[in-house]
Amino acid sequence: MITSKTNFLALIGNPVNHSLSPIMQNAAIEYLGLDLIYFSIPCKEKDFEIVIKSLSKINCKGINVTIPFKEKVLNYCTEISPLAEKIKAVNTLKPNDQGEWHGINTDVEGLIYPLEDLCLQKKTAVILGSGGAARSAIQGLIKLKMSKITVISRNEVALNYLLNDFKNQHMVAGVSINNSDVVDLVNSADLIINATPVGMINISNKNDELPFGDNLWRTIKSQTIIYDLIYNPQETKLLNYSRKKGCLTINGTKMLVAQGAKSLSYWTNGLTIPMEIMEEAIKKYL
Ligand code: NAP
Repeated sequence: MITSKTNFLALIGNPVNHSLSPIMQNAAIEYLGLDLIYFSIPCKEKDFEIVIKSLSKINCKGINVTIPFKEKVLNYCTEISPLAEKIKAVNTLKPNDQGEWHGINTDVEGLIYPLEDLCLQKKTAVILGSGGAARSAIQGLIKLKMSKITVISRNEVALNYLLNDFKNQHMVAGVSINNSDVVDLVNSADLIINATPVGMINISNKNDELPFGDNLWRTIKSQTIIYDLIYNPQETKLLNYSRKKGCLTINGTKMLVAQGAKSLSYWTNGLTIPMEIMEEAIKKYL
């Protein structure tokens, strides 16, 4: 029951109405019997500062930030975990005793959770996009000891900025989508991660497209693992297309659940979170 003692957790992003985080977090909260509620706050870029600062004044117990605020939010944290600092992306915040935000990143662990049993050591990867999720993906794939990780991006400024942050990691490289090598890179990769929102529900005119257009995908090998970080819809056009080509496909649900469980555990000072309850709630909802 929601009473005047109930505390709240929030997700801030734009868009957020596609998000399944409230469904899975509230399922875990209910299962654990916590006096908490988790809801989404859609926020325009121009309002982000006022929203994040105000939440620290009204007893919010924790925040998740999603697209497009994961990098920007670092400016509003007084303390940042070394991992989040390194990849310059925060997805989870908790207030300290003074009501100032402490930022961490649970995406890296969440992202590698469905890859851990696939023996990717010494294999090659391509990551599409150069935003917050791409940064988490690079860090995760380094942890899995992949031998070469190439980022393909349409945004050369963001790409160079990202590559500069990983300049000490010899296995990380990046190319613009206009580079003539991109089709060969995609054809020779063991793993491809879509870290762009192309294919996501509610992105206008984008959920019936393949990232960077059809030409990039025509000659994809059946041995390639295609991991789309999008979870709504559960099967994006990219996953549908690659499944039909014989590829092993993974959607973003397990990552969502794993990163969300890490966040809830952090907000509740280390409680063990029932991931199966979260995943079940998502499946039931969809
Ligand atoms: P972000 O920081 O905004 O980065 C998005 C990246 O995609 C940017 O490089 C952007 O390029 C690129 N991009 C956007 N539209 C594009 C298009 N039409 N064609 C090619 N590139 C395009 O977002 P993010 O936080 O990294 O999230 C990326 C995706 O991962 C989203 O779909 C998000 O839902 C998903 N995600 C899922 C989970 C999960 O738990 N499953 C967790 C995190 C993220 P520009 O800089 O040029 O705009």
